Amino acid sequence: MAERKPFVGGNWKMNTNRTSGSDLARGVVDGLLTVDGVEAAVFPPFPYLLTIRSILRDRGSSVRLGAQDVYFQNDGAFTGEVSLAMQKDCGVQQVLVGHSERRHVLGEKDELINKKLRTVLEGGLVGVLCVGETLDERLAGHQDIVCSRQVRTGLAEIPGSMIDRLVVAYEPVWAIGTGKTATPQDAQDAHAQIRSQLSRLYGAELAARIRIIYGGSLKPDLAADMFAQPDIDGGLVGGASLNAGDFVAICKAAAAAGKSK
Ligand code: PEP
Repeated sequence: MAERKPFVGGNWKMNTNRTSGSDLARGVVDGLLTVDGVEAAVFPPFPYLLTIRSILRDRGSSVRLGAQDVYFQNDGAFTGEVSLAMQKDCGVQQVLVGHSERRHVLGEKDELINKKLRTVLEGGLVGVLCVGETLDERLAGHQDIVCSRQVRTGLAEIPGSMIDRLVVAYEPVWAIGTGKTATPQDAQDAHAQIRSQLSRLYGAELAARIRIIYGGSLKPDLAADMFAQPDIDGGLVGGASLNAGDFVAICKAAAAAGKSK
């Protein structure tokens, strides 16, 4: 049995509506009812958090409720932003920080991402720090430098005492929503580099406890090979998480891999 419980998150992005999101959540809950050995979470759009929370609660599911982003201030004149306190009030347990679409479409920088991650971890929730290189950076052979920098700056001033609530998602930008996936070996190499970086920051013992998950066009057919890699502890799933059957299949693959590690 793996020392790190596999983690699979479904990032719904700006998709679904109240009806389709509810149906999706019910499908995920029903599909995972008898599955153990995996921590599964869904990350619906903000307006549907309460609706999805009541579906998870009504059915007594262990599926966690996540948010796709957070602002680092508690309250005040920050039009359009959503604080951690508001999210906790809506039952949020986990928060994505630094997703590639926030970095590359919405222009978030490492320093802002660090403030957000500190807010989440200091607030006692699980923070999923997303890192990954662009295609140009990979073609230039800079993937390890880029991921190291994103991990180091993302975790600035975050003490080891909070690290059990951290998940790192390695998501090569060129693989997100493109249908292209990293090979399991390339992904493993990147995960091993990230774990080395975590080890330099926090020591080998703490680094060995941190879950590092892969994201980028992950589908059920590739999941078992991906999760069989020693440093790949689950996945962050976008497109395939909009189909309950596919998401459940990926969660089951993660649970099975965790049991045989
Ligand atoms: C994501 O949104 O984090 C993601 C990996 O998306 P997709 O699976 O669609 O590539």
